[in-house]
Amino acid sequence: MNEKVKNIIAASGQLIPLNWLTTKNQPPFLPFYHIVSDSHPDYISFYSIRNPKLFEKELDFLLKHFNAVDLDTLLQQPKQNDMHLTFDDGLTECISTIAPMLKRKGIPATFFVSPDFIDNKALFHRFKRAILEKKGIIKPGGKRFNYRQVNELDQIALQHQIDFTSYKPYLTSEQLQQLHNMGFNIGAHSMYHPEMWLMNENEQFEQIANSMKWISDRFNPKIKAFSFPFTDQGIQPSVFEKIINENIADITFGTAGLKHDIAKNHFQRVPIERKEFWSIKKNVHFEYFYYFVRSLLKKNNVTR
Ligand SMILES: [Zn+2]
Repeated sequence: MNEKVKNIIAASGQLIPLNWLTTKNQPPFLPFYHIVSDSHPDYISFYSIRNPKLFEKELDFLLKHFNAVDLDTLLQQPKQNDMHLTFDDGLTECISTIAPMLKRKGIPATFFVSPDFIDNKALFHRFKRAILEKKGIIKPGGKRFNYRQVNELDQIALQHQIDFTSYKPYLTSEQLQQLHNMGFNIGAHSMYHPEMWLMNENEQFEQIANSMKWISDRFNPKIKAFSFPFTDQGIQPSVFEKIINENIADITFGTAGLKHDIAKNHFQRVPIERKEFWSIKKNVHFEYFYYFVRSLLKKNNVTR
């Protein structure tokens, strides 16, 4: 669906009180973010960024409308007005800005990280592309570069004397341990954030199993959680079955918005940081009004 149509749905949705749009059989509300910052780092080009003040206001809005629950509750007895906050990619702002604010407000949350990036051992290929775009070397809207083409990005950087290792966007091992010690859940987000739809099932499963093992070895979490990088579109039921049967993860997450999912223990989350900035109210009303529209068409289930 294009942005214009989404904006029309969001505008209509905002005219309707939220309690008119909520019904018992809806899934819990699962917003996800990446970063909260006063500045806009060069490596982020594909989503909008909240500053701490605005993020705090958004949390207050969410707390007014939803019950913040932990992963356990979400897995055992998910209710329509429950929410669980999650943060993807393991950026350093998770410990500097986000976690202290969540702690102060008593909000449970899960942080999903890609092991290859922890300690800034490597840089996400989309970040590399964004840096080159920001420097005017790659045209916006040009070639996207997937994970298999990361060498090409490295070559371009070399030619233009750009040192990717000077960027340190990620948490260190110690900081990740701190997040865990603060009582937050740490989950896995694949090894290096590939476009998993370009992988075969074995490769997909390896990304899930290896990153979950990395998390389990370090944190031994009570609830083992995984969030799919980018999207879970195209992930076959056999992969979800293998995750359950081999006890790889207890709960998994996608990014398809407010929807039920046919896969067991798999939940869909709502991306808040759209490329075009939307307020939290606009995001929430859009999701619930869109859910209502889809329910008329019986299209609120992700099928596989
Ligand atoms: Zn991600």
